[in-house]
Amino acid sequence: MEFDVVIIGGGLAGLTAGLALQEKGKRTAIVSAGQNALHFSSGAFGLLDAEDPLQAAKELPEHHPYARIGAENLPKYTEAAKALFGKAGIALNGEPLKNGWRLTPQGGLKRAWMTLPEVDIFPDKEAIKGHKVLIVNLLGYLDFNTSFLALGLEKQGCSCRIETLRLPEMERLRENPSEMRSVNIARVMDSAWIKVAAEIKTLVKDEDWIILPLVFGLKDATVPDRIREAVPAKVLFVGTMPPSVPGMRTQMQLKKAYEALGGTFLMGDEAISAKTEGSRVLSVSTRNLGEVKAAEFVLATGSYFSKGIASDMNHVFEPIFGADVLLDEGRSAWYDPDFFSPQAFLSYGVATDGQFRVLKDQAPMDNLHAIGSVLGGARSLELGCGAGVAILTALSVAETI
Ligand SMILES: Cc1cc2nc3c(=O)[nH]c(=O)nc-3n(C[C@H](O)[C@H](O)[C@H](O)COP(=O)(O)OP(=O)(O)OC[C@H]3O[C@@H](n4cnc5c(N)ncnc54)[C@H](O)[C@@H]3O)c2cc1C
Repeated sequence: MEFDVVIIGGGLAGLTAGLALQEKGKRTAIVSAGQNALHFSSGAFGLLDAEDPLQAAKELPEHHPYARIGAENLPKYTEAAKALFGKAGIALNGEPLKNGWRLTPQGGLKRAWMTLPEVDIFPDKEAIKGHKVLIVNLLGYLDFNTSFLALGLEKQGCSCRIETLRLPEMERLRENPSEMRSVNIARVMDSAWIKVAAEIKTLVKDEDWIILPLVFGLKDATVPDRIREAVPAKVLFVGTMPPSVPGMRTQMQLKKAYEALGGTFLMGDEAISAKTEGSRVLSVSTRNLGEVKAAEFVLATGSYFSKGIASDMNHVFEPIFGADVLLDEGRSAWYDPDFFSPQAFLSYGVATDGQFRVLKDQAPMDNLHAIGSVLGGARSLELGCGAGVAILTALSVAETI
């Protein structure tokens, strides 16, 4: 098999790059081993955890992905991302390069760059103060902690009341507590949401906010909005324990849009090794297809979580190409013994040149770029920039190719 571009990894970064490249007329394939970080997403995408993210991006060290893209290019790619996702049916909330706030499952606030359609983004912290809130859960659903949420909101000056709905449609799921997971519930809710909305109408007293767990809109993205229209108060959806319903739907929407543009998504396949000649990659071998050739390759395999970066007691390495990894010298510098401190090893990843060409033995590979959380140099947990790095590096590399 031969393509213009082979992308390894079908998470947020790989799918964004695939969509952008297909749009430009390239013939691409995405090799995708399995679950990705979107399946655990809060429904909010982070850029940088700063009041002014554009200014903060200008102050980053030169090996940070945003410094490589150039802070001046971030607005252009942000607009491009909104347009690209819009064509896939995903209307992202949020203003380009202006952080807002999203409500957390603990009733607090966290900075957000853009959010998926059902997750509200507030312009400032005052917007969540002083509301009368009705929190509604579904009987037997333990992955949405209503008491935590209420406690957090009460600290913001809200008053909260908690109610639980018992729907006959969920009796079968309730028989086995391990079936009461977000995705299973969401499957039922694609039709049972009408009853939820009707029940809520009978429960509302003088509340101006109603909060529901984010278990709506798995297949039908319009369900959250239809609930909003049917209920006489502002409805907010708050994230639950994984799997993430909006994250899984987003992955399906991006994949569908990618395939509609002619892309080949090799679901459940895995790149095992690569054949190289000098500074060029000739092909990758996948578990199902054997050798796959292309003119260009993109590494979008994620971090430790997705096995894009692997480790043993003494090494941190990239398993397919044996690419150089950006890390601290000396194992003792990799981690802080205080479990709750920021951990250095989490930011380790593939080393690249200024155009995201992967370095091997300190020299760039001509036709291999890296994007997303496989990249070294982005302390995504500390800086709150995981999805931003995935989307913006994908668009930057797609443009380079
Ligand atoms: C649990 C978790 C939750 C997160 N939540 C958020 C959030 O809410 N907001 C936010 O901004 N950021 C979040 N992040 C940060 C996250 O890294 C980014 O948001 C982003 O989704 C990463 O996308 P990615 O495509 O680079 O990597 P991933 O999503 O990790 O995708 C990599 C893909 O590559 C595949 N792969 C790996 N090796 C191979 C191989 N050899 N062959 C084929 N395929 C392979 C993996 O199976 C996986 O599907 C989260 C991260 C984690 C780990």
